[in-house]
Amino acid sequence: MPGGHTQTLRPFLWRASKLYGDTEIVSRNHDGMSRQTYAEYADRTARLANALDEHGIEQGDRVGTFCWNTDRHFETYFAVPSMGGQLHTINPLLPDEHIRYIVEDANDEVIFVDPSLAEKIAGAADGAEEFEGVDFVAMGEEPIEALDAPAYETFVDGHDADYDWPDLDDDQPAGMCYTSGTTGKPKGVEYTQSMLWSHTMMSLSPQGIPMADDDVVMPVVPMFHVNAWGMPFTATAGGSKQVFPGPSPNAEHLATLIEEEGVTVTAGVPTVWLGLMEYCEENDPDLSSLERVIVGGSAAPESMIRWFDDRGVELLHAWGMTEMSPIGSVAHLKSDLEDEEYETQLEKRSKQGLMAPGLEFKIIDEDGNRIAWDGEEFGELYVRGPSVTKEYFKRPDANEEDFENGWLKTGDVVSVDPDGYLKIVDREKDVIKSGGEWISSVELENAVMAHDDVSEATVIGVPHEKWQERPVAFVVPTEDADRDTLDDEILEMLGDEYPKWWLPDAVEYIDEVPKTATGKFSKKDLREQYTGSMELHEGSAPEDAAPSR
Ligand code: ADP
Repeated sequence: MPGGHTQTLRPFLWRASKLYGDTEIVSRNHDGMSRQTYAEYADRTARLANALDEHGIEQGDRVGTFCWNTDRHFETYFAVPSMGGQLHTINPLLPDEHIRYIVEDANDEVIFVDPSLAEKIAGAADGAEEFEGVDFVAMGEEPIEALDAPAYETFVDGHDADYDWPDLDDDQPAGMCYTSGTTGKPKGVEYTQSMLWSHTMMSLSPQGIPMADDDVVMPVVPMFHVNAWGMPFTATAGGSKQVFPGPSPNAEHLATLIEEEGVTVTAGVPTVWLGLMEYCEENDPDLSSLERVIVGGSAAPESMIRWFDDRGVELLHAWGMTEMSPIGSVAHLKSDLEDEEYETQLEKRSKQGLMAPGLEFKIIDEDGNRIAWDGEEFGELYVRGPSVTKEYFKRPDANEEDFENGWLKTGDVVSVDPDGYLKIVDREKDVIKSGGEWISSVELENAVMAHDDVSEATVIGVPHEKWQERPVAFVVPTEDADRDTLDDEILEMLGDEYPKWWLPDAVEYIDEVPKTATGKFSKKDLREQYTGSMELHEGSAPEDAAPSR
């Protein structure tokens, strides 16, 4: 509906600044803690929009961010979409080649860069034609010379705290985030105003991940990862105090912020909470303000739900996808299960949960039939709804594969029990998810096979206690290969091209890669054959390059 601004983000901020003008937005920044109120935030957002106007940003232009979870990053969240621009949050943990690809694909006009990530983006941009014409702004009070980037505070300084926000169509693109493809390049997902509006309203509902004006919300899931699961929008709509944990927060930072700011709701991947649990065993932070922890991105272990239960904190297990903005299902306990035994309840809450209101799903087995809701049969999960994308950005090939008659094919294999709880039992997509971030197994195995002394290779994800999955390479060496040095050579070669956290934890020699009847690599067989007996080197996953934590 042209000019209707019925389903756009801006009224959420308008309401927060009018009704909760004194409520705080707190951020751990590289140069210390900062605080502002929603009233001040609204002014700064308008200043930023005016600054972007002056910089030449017009409706439909893309503005990139290469940032951690901070208040300035949050300012771009409302300023850019509300002026009719499209906020493209770039994942700084990706290999340089992927970063170059998505900056060119999205055609970003300007990119806001966190100072701690300046070196990373400068490395990716160095001599790269994909970055031609891109301007940078440094997220802080100091410029970044190497990027010719003025300081954010200088960029917005002197601009008016009023902005004549345009009326926007509901289907105006507002956001953008890339997700990893099984093969080939990352796939862009565009979020329209109404997709983000619908996602926010769905999240606010009691069956979503609700946040209200008595909540203090801290998204640990990165803001470059599907808008931190939409939490900054939901928290604003709910009038919550917001706490941004800043660059690479560790368990101690998180515990301190929970204690000092009185955080009630937080969210992140299991790896983050395993870190916090470990920290709590040795230290004794006061987590008594915490009411709910939303855990998703990978399966939440049952022991984690128990751990939080023991401390009076509700762990809400959620499932979602970049393509879904991203919340899909949340494992709330249905009211008619409240009198059940704790163990029965735990079994339900450990599943990926109940589809959130507004969304629909169907589960299709190998023969193309819908499965029974018996918790036994399984098939591929298909979803659709107002917050689910209908297509990828400029990728007809991927659209053909991943969409069918308006349904998104999730690539997740699930069962559903008679109560409607979905449970992920397998994944069809050939990717590895480590600490909440994707590693392309296909890309790694192609790189390994480029070594002259490798005749065949495959890479699979094996279960790992802390990172959920880690890559392991299985290699068939050629006859002349020197088996004493080949594994190190392979890792060194991969290290030249990929971030440390992508590197396989082990390189195992095998005689042959198991094949399916049609001659394809059978990773399933390999997984079954090896994962039980494998012991990964303790601590081999790189701590320093660790994603999402
Ligand atoms: P996000 O990490 O925000 O959920 P991605 O698009 O990166 O979004 O990943 C989506 C995929 O992650 C899902 O299709 C599924 O394979 C996996 N996933 C997400 N949540 C869970 C969960 N709670 N349990 C198991 N797998 C999950």
